[in-house]
Amino acid sequence: MRPRHHPSADILAAYAAGTHDQGFGLVVGAHIEACAECRDRVGAFEATSGAALIDLPRAQLESGALAQTLARLDQSRSEPDAMDARPLLERLPLEAKRWVAPGVWVAAVDTPHASENRVYVLSVGKGGLTARHEHSGAEYCVVLKGAYRDELGVFTAGDFASAESDLNHQPVVQGNEECICLFATEGRLKPQGMIGRVAFALADV
Ligand SMILES: [Zn+2]
Repeated sequence: MRPRHHPSADILAAYAAGTHDQGFGLVVGAHIEACAECRDRVGAFEATSGAALIDLPRAQLESGALAQTLARLDQSRSEPDAMDARPLLERLPLEAKRWVAPGVWVAAVDTPHASENRVYVLSVGKGGLTARHEHSGAEYCVVLKGAYRDELGVFTAGDFASAESDLNHQPVVQGNEECICLFATEGRLKPQGMIGRVAFALADV
């Protein structure tokens, strides 16, 4: 099924330019793998920025700009491995699963990221819900398996969600299987209620 929730144009443009924080590009790339529409949009941004570089007067380019651009291209290419046909969930280098509540596990993704950020996979069992929480910074999420619903709608495999620091939500798993999502989170989540605080502390998110 085609994804219904996509990254914003700003997020796709940043992906094309390779300017996301490490780990956040991985989440956008996971959506792009599943979404032909966004692949085309990223391709269009790449073509436009390439044309803009050609048009730019030489004097405006900082020294080292080409090397930086090439390094960014390498970085964005190295994120999802396009040659490996296995589902992304099987390709992600996951650290040990930590069970944080009945039917709920978290595993960090072994990928470079800023020390204050988190990149991880969360699995919540059928019918489960996460503790209501607020965000202290940006969060990108892509659904790898199953579905969840929150105040913003229903999200199924391939769908992308981004949250800003003012979002307060409580996702609930939909359907007959667990819901597994890949997250990149800036700063720490702020759970509400004691059970949420204990679970989030165990999960180290
Ligand atoms: Zn898309």
